[in-house]
Amino acid sequence: KHISEQKVIEAIDPRKDVDGFHPVNTGRMISGLPAYLPATPDGILELLGYYRIETAGKHCVVIGRSNIVGRPIANLLSQKGWDCTVTLCHSRTKNLAEVVRGGDIVIAALGKAEFVTADMIKPGAVVVDVGITRVPSDRTKSGWKLLGDVKFDEVAPKCSYITPVPGGVGPMTIISLMKNTLKAARREVYKLIAAAGAVRCRRRAIVKIPSGFRRGFFVFRRAFSRKPGGRGVVRSCSQPIRSARCFPFCRIGRGISTRSSVRVRNPRRGIRSAG
Ligand code: NAD
Repeated sequence: KHISEQKVIEAIDPRKDVDGFHPVNTGRMISGLPAYLPATPDGILELLGYYRIETAGKHCVVIGRSNIVGRPIANLLSQKGWDCTVTLCHSRTKNLAEVVRGGDIVIAALGKAEFVTADMIKPGAVVVDVGITRVPSDRTKSGWKLLGDVKFDEVAPKCSYITPVPGGVGPMTIISLMKNTLKAARREVYKLIAAAGAVRCRRRAIVKIPSGFRRGFFVFRRAFSRKPGGRGVVRSCSQPIRSARCFPFCRIGRGISTRSSVRVRNPRRGIRSAG
């Protein structure tokens, strides 16, 4: 409890955030820009895609609004390409059973064992069970077993597809995390940021960081002054930013005043001078 989850997440470099929890990645994801997607939602999309489950125009009911599962999957499924009409339910939702009954696709991510029962599911619906709850069991050697949020035995005969627990969304989450790690190693998400390694300041430059934003210009990171419009010593150069602003990144553009010129090597466009 004494550790601030938000502070820890914000301390992560978005370029290495393979969990996809940093606000830069969630913001990019919501804007439909390349980003590390959170592993569980990405795993669910992979499953829906693999089994060619029709999503366009379908009503998807998501139960649970956590930042790591409910909220991102609700957002992703509403985006172009998936085209679902999404209802996001949570602990304060009224008539939950009725809302869930309207779902062509039901994603249960609330962490309550066997919460979703057969009477809450529309015949033929697709059910994705994210929940994992460990409960005591005298049938297993370990003394416990895992249960999902869906009462599998009674819901399975009623729906067209259902994911088991364990062995459903869980392994997909692991795969997605590995996929993100591979993408990070290959620098696939932040292509040009990755080029930061190839980018060098010839000399230290004192730059005025304009407060405006322009598409496609280079960004100089970690200037001493983080204030837009302030002055700072550029230590390293990084990427052109196409998306939302990240506070420590200050945008540099035309009309910039530099005491010495800064040469930025962009593998795509060759060498250009930003100074
Ligand atoms: P969380 O506790 O952060 O969020 C639970 C959400 O469920 C909350 O938004 C809450 O509003 C909602 N909720 C709680 N009780 C409810 C109720 N009675 N009716 C409607 N909504 C209710 O949970 P989380 O981190 O999203 O995880 C949810 C479950 O998924 C947990 O069991 C967790 O172990 C599991 N999980 C599994 C994977 C996987 O890889 N399979 C990954 C992440 C989480």
